[in-house]
Amino acid sequence: MFAPDTLKNRVAFITGGAGDIGFEIAQTYGRLGARVVIASRNQTRLEEALSTLQQQGIEAAAIATDVRDADQVKRAIDQTVGRFGALDILVNNAAGNFHCPTAGLTPNGWKTVIDIDLNGTFYGCLAAYEHLKRSAHGGSIISIITMLGLTGWPGAAHAAAAKAGILSLSRTLAVEWGGDGIRVNTISPGPIGDTEGAKRMYLDTGRGDLERRKTALNRFGAKADVAHAAVYLASDMAGYVTGDNLVVDGGRWLKYVAA
Ligand code: NAP
Repeated sequence: MFAPDTLKNRVAFITGGAGDIGFEIAQTYGRLGARVVIASRNQTRLEEALSTLQQQGIEAAAIATDVRDADQVKRAIDQTVGRFGALDILVNNAAGNFHCPTAGLTPNGWKTVIDIDLNGTFYGCLAAYEHLKRSAHGGSIISIITMLGLTGWPGAAHAAAAKAGILSLSRTLAVEWGGDGIRVNTISPGPIGDTEGAKRMYLDTGRGDLERRKTALNRFGAKADVAHAAVYLASDMAGYVTGDNLVVDGGRWLKYVAA
């Protein structure tokens, strides 16, 4: 277990922070002392998530943001600093995805996912840079990707290419911004059983058992597994860790199951 003051006095901005994994990260950061800002599009979901955070005594804010719009992202990050006085942690977690064999993928479908995942991550990093440079704790950027970005992802070429792009961007920034005290890392979750995404992709399509057997640990992960990895990377415990991709997938990427 992490000490209750692990992220004390840190300010975190989390895109997709009202979604499954993003909200788990927001709650976990908040319980460990961080002030958190959650940003995504759906105002109702944002308000519900904010109220749940506040009921737990977490100092938080919600800012409606479409990460495909660089100006909106910059405004939201500047607003975060205006409200809480600093920015220490950026979590690029927002993503879109849908199953579609590549031969049937429209340029618009491709562009939408690249815009949310890859471009949205770039806009976040760019808008956060000057603030993270001034962080008293050293800035930390964490982007949520997947090992399917490295292995390829039949039926989701758009998401796979976007996630591979985020990995490459993160490693470039780890070097370019290391001298500014900013660490840049990624997390690659495997199938996370308590998310709508995994339910839609695997359970609803009857592929739950196959996906489970693909993991070395023979089970789906939980949102908390990803949130704990995100705490570690944001904390002083990972002070010498940058350019890393922390794989939290139960050994899935190592194991091939034909059917
Ligand atoms: P989720 O519940 O669908 O959350 C995605 C979040 O992104 C939502 O809050 C959504 O909110 C937001 N979002 C989507 N488009 C956006 C946009 N244009 N601007 C701002 N926000 C936007 O998904 P999740 O399962 O928690 O996944 C979170 C991350 O983990 C993603 O990066 C995903 O690729 C990664 N991941 C998940 C799994 C899994 O098993 N679930 C496995 C590997 C990796 P709005 O729609 O309200 O904007």
